[in-house]
Amino acid sequence: MLEVRELAVSYGMVRALDEVSLTVDQGSITAVLGANGAGKTTLLRTVNGLVRPRSGSVLLDGTDITRLPVEEVVRLGLAHVPEGRGVITELTVQDNLRLGVLWRNRRERRALQSTGLDEVYALFPALAERRARLAETLSGGERQMLAIGRALMTRPRLLLLDEPSLGLAPRVTAQILAVLRELRERQGLTVLLVEQNARSALSVADHGVVLNLGRVVASDAAASLATADDLRHAYLGF
Ligand code: ATP
Repeated sequence: MLEVRELAVSYGMVRALDEVSLTVDQGSITAVLGANGAGKTTLLRTVNGLVRPRSGSVLLDGTDITRLPVEEVVRLGLAHVPEGRGVITELTVQDNLRLGVLWRNRRERRALQSTGLDEVYALFPALAERRARLAETLSGGERQMLAIGRALMTRPRLLLLDEPSLGLAPRVTAQILAVLRELRERQGLTVLLVEQNARSALSVADHGVVLNLGRVVASDAAASLATADDLRHAYLGF
């Protein structure tokens, strides 16, 4: 479904991605792993159209999306949950969810909002109970749910998630990863997940890609990566 071909990205003299290639199969969960600074966030931002690569391309179902504006990329079915979640704390839970489809035209917005809110609340009952509260009153885990919920409002086919476990207790991380698996099973959602927490990510993923200093150093079935001792010790920290 997603194909990344030989992406190269530099920030001035810093080479963040160096000839990175990977594929994400329809209906799979793929985890991109690696230490701080490995290039994981840059990879997601480039796939989403927020960063322009120096060379290489990104294809979604065979269509080249490398240089499309973000709004176009979203319209094609891709949604991004950024690191740090991007929840607006001064707004209510429900208004944050509505923001997910704000820039659509009125007809599309109405259609997406009416079913989208019900679906997100069914998936995250904690958000339904707190729909009228300001997002600043939510716990870290609830904010992550809200960020995922907002991305789901656009009914994406491919969800990009940047470090959903950051700062969360293991129990809460497990809950969030379980929801991703449920979405994959119920709706065939495809997920590309960036994580420093390799052990949790591999427990839910089908496939894993390990980045180090902007290069792919391993790409294999998640179960194989989880038991590859050399790789775990060198790059995955568990
Ligand atoms: P983290 O988990 O810390 O976000 P990461 O694996 O996501 O790490 P990136 O954030 O993609 O890695 O960073 C890759 C490299 O690019 C690092 O060396 C980083 O310092 C550098 N970098 C990232 N963003 C910028 C920027 N806007 N300007 C300059 N250098 C940057």
